[in-house]
Amino acid sequence: MNIIIFGPPGAGKGTQSDFIVKKFNLYKLSTGDLLREEIKKKSLLGVKITKVVNSGALVSDDIINSLIENIVSDKNYKARIIFDGYPRNLSQAENLNKLLLKHEQKIDIVIRLKVSLDIIKKRISGRMICSICGNTYNQFFNPPDESTKCCKKEFLKKRDDDNVDIAIKRFETYEKSTEPVLDFYNKMNLVKNINGETSISVIYKEISSYLNIIEGWLYIITPYKYAFKNIYPINYGPNSRN
Ligand code: AMP
Repeated sequence: MNIIIFGPPGAGKGTQSDFIVKKFNLYKLSTGDLLREEIKKKSLLGVKITKVVNSGALVSDDIINSLIENIVSDKNYKARIIFDGYPRNLSQAENLNKLLLKHEQKIDIVIRLKVSLDIIKKRISGRMICSICGNTYNQFFNPPDESTKCCKKEFLKKRDDDNVDIAIKRFETYEKSTEPVLDFYNKMNLVKNINGETSISVIYKEISSYLNIIEGWLYIITPYKYAFKNIYPINYGPNSRN
């Protein structure tokens, strides 16, 4: 199953993706993580995008789409990707559709986390990431349990774009460019809205219940999928309108 986890910056997409990946054996494709990796490495691409990422604006579609194609075309990740932070505008959504079709895949569900700007400001200003394992914490809502993990204080880092001013800019970018993507997926009947302001475990349970249904459905349909490929080329599944 392929999933899009959707919502404004600081909605908890990364935190929830990390849980989902483990439970459902998926691969997390976070465009933000891929870009930060390039910045950290100081690669040619990294140097080119540093300013844009740190300003809260979007990196160009060409750059992002080619990062995505590398992964969608990889057979190891076929139909087991959770897209975190992508697509972020309509042209990326259309590109993703084409790419998935080309590689005989589709999106099974779009999980949308709804969170207000006030909560986002608090979440972003408290966000810390472990530089060893990549786990995300929040100094106010979800502090690390130092006894069990590598995530000691000295390894916890803030992201360069995690301050309130940039958070507001990123939220505005989200409202202007990214929210219209919802209509695109609403028309395909794929969007499930979830209140992203409750606790991590409550949100996780709600997401899991949707994913369990899809996984169960795919389990039933998969043996027939290939046999009936010509009749039902792509739009099979519980969200199909056919
Ligand atoms: P994130 O970690 O998803 O909050 O992304 C951090 C920053 O990376 C964003 O503010 C953008 O500058 C850039 N970025 C991440 N994903 C995309 C995308 N799909 N399209 C354009 N820019 C992106």
